[in-house]
Amino acid sequence: MRLLIMGPPGAGKGTQAGAIADHYGIVTISTGQLFRDNIQLGTPLGKRIESLIAAGNLVPDELTNEMVFQRLSSPDVRKRGGFLLDGYPRTLDQVEALDGALIRSRRRLKAVIALVADPNQLIARMLKRAEIEGRADDNEESIRHRIEVYHAQTAPLLDVYHDRGLLVEVDAEGTVDEVRERITGSLDAKLGQPA
Ligand code: ADP
Repeated sequence: MRLLIMGPPGAGKGTQAGAIADHYGIVTISTGQLFRDNIQLGTPLGKRIESLIAAGNLVPDELTNEMVFQRLSSPDVRKRGGFLLDGYPRTLDQVEALDGALIRSRRRLKAVIALVADPNQLIARMLKRAEIEGRADDNEESIRHRIEVYHAQTAPLLDVYHDRGLLVEVDAEGTVDEVRERITGSLDAKLGQPA
């Protein structure tokens, strides 16, 4: 099972990614979380990207691609045989880079989950999350900027995956369990497996 999960900031990608990966017994590769881990550990990568992330800008493609490819080729991901990419790809160049990496390793994506959320709900959801998680980029200015970046750079990817017949759109409103069940139900229907 090789999947992507996409959606605007605040749609709940990270939360659902964990639940979906558990459900299918696959590994989650979350670029946002990997970047935050690097920042927290004070690695050279973390120092380089800290201010970009806090301001809600994307990390340059080369840095992001390299980090993802390292994870994709690591033994635990290979052994599990499946993965869910959360927050990657986010630009058309990243799509191309991922395509190349998958072809080189003779792997194919099965589906792309797109979380669909009411734009008016996103900011409120994230400001609430800010109180709980204290993420440096969950302030109103950075949130608004991330939503703009999403529309300009990432939303066009939905058409690409739609045209490839991979897109599974799921309503992101509701409780974590409701959304998870919606996602696994839609995936199982698409992939022809029992729920
Ligand atoms: P959200 O979707 O709420 O913005 P993420 O955890 O997915 O949360 O991403 C947080 C930040 O990490 C992004 O705003 C961006 O700075 C950086 N980031 C994550 N994934 C990528 C990516 N694929 N390419 C570039 N930057 C990324």
